[in-house]
Amino acid sequence: MEKIDCLIVGGGPAGYTAAIYASRANIAPVLYEGVQPGGQLTTTTDIENYPGFENGISGQQLVDSMKAQAIRLGTDMRQGAVTSADLSQRPFRIVINGEHEIEAKTLIIATGATAKYLGLPSEDRYKGLGVSACATCDGFFYRKKTVAVVGGGDTACEEATYLAGLCKKVYMIVRRDVLRASEAMQDRVKNTENIEVLWNCNTQEILGDEYGVTGARLVRKDGEVFDIAVDGFFLAIGHHPNSDLFREWVAVDGEGYIITDGKTSKTNVEGVFAAGDVQDPHYRQAITAAASGCRAALDAERFLKMQ
Ligand code: NDP
Repeated sequence: MEKIDCLIVGGGPAGYTAAIYASRANIAPVLYEGVQPGGQLTTTTDIENYPGFENGISGQQLVDSMKAQAIRLGTDMRQGAVTSADLSQRPFRIVINGEHEIEAKTLIIATGATAKYLGLPSEDRYKGLGVSACATCDGFFYRKKTVAVVGGGDTACEEATYLAGLCKKVYMIVRRDVLRASEAMQDRVKNTENIEVLWNCNTQEILGDEYGVTGARLVRKDGEVFDIAVDGFFLAIGHHPNSDLFREWVAVDGEGYIITDGKTSKTNVEGVFAAGDVQDPHYRQAITAAASGCRAALDAERFLKMQ
């Protein structure tokens, strides 16, 4: 059984930032990157809103650089994913890849969230070529173009209004005849001239050519099938926080997001901290994830000093 002071799970901006701070605090962090090293940023193209990169940076480059920085500062960076965890007592017992057992005095959960997709083969084909699950990340590339947003919740309304500020026209594809979003968000959509809501519609196929998305084939509840011409197709049908393995011990909200205490990263289990999208249903930005990773490392360092 390997015994360590600080285990970080999740290789994304939150995990890597936690590792940078924890390394500098001399608490010898071990970081397991999980099944998708780099996290959601690896599925976006250019990032233009991460401060410090005047001309933008690719998502992959940004996470590669965070990772290299953590390694340079002393993080023990490892491949592998948590397969089970026992947080019932300290030190916590964590199993990696079903075989390697670790005892950790502190645990930082930074396992992120996964955007939900419709599950269409054409959606996979055009991921990164017009299909995106993040308007704030990719909207800028559709300036003065026509795009579609799928979903009727707060995220869809927020993303549609954000895109409406950049694009010529935004279609919202809503599967019912009502929006799930809050009244305030619904009002914003209604008051935005270049948003057209297509009610009672589901997406049958995303259309495209070798350069990317050119449209979408929709089917209305009454059976009518029709095409719309769009350059970008944004999914906003919710995220799934990757907290499943820890839910037995760590308190989560109704959606499965880990609940943290106020402005800290503390969970209801002493010595367990959460950072990034696994505890953030609202902002979901690389910069907010990185900031919460910093908080988690500082919280873990303080916790260890108090022991
Ligand atoms: P929600 O679960 O609230 O909404 C998901 C939307 O996607 C619903 O309209 C749902 O339709 C639709 N949908 C789900 N699956 C499909 C599918 N397969 N095909 C078509 N449509 C589908 O997720 P959000 O990400 O919008 O919000 C998550 C949480 O975050 C909420 O609590 C929200 O209030 C909060 N939030 C708050 C914000 C704010 O306060 N500014 C901003 C963003 C999010 P249906 O309604 O028919 O189920």
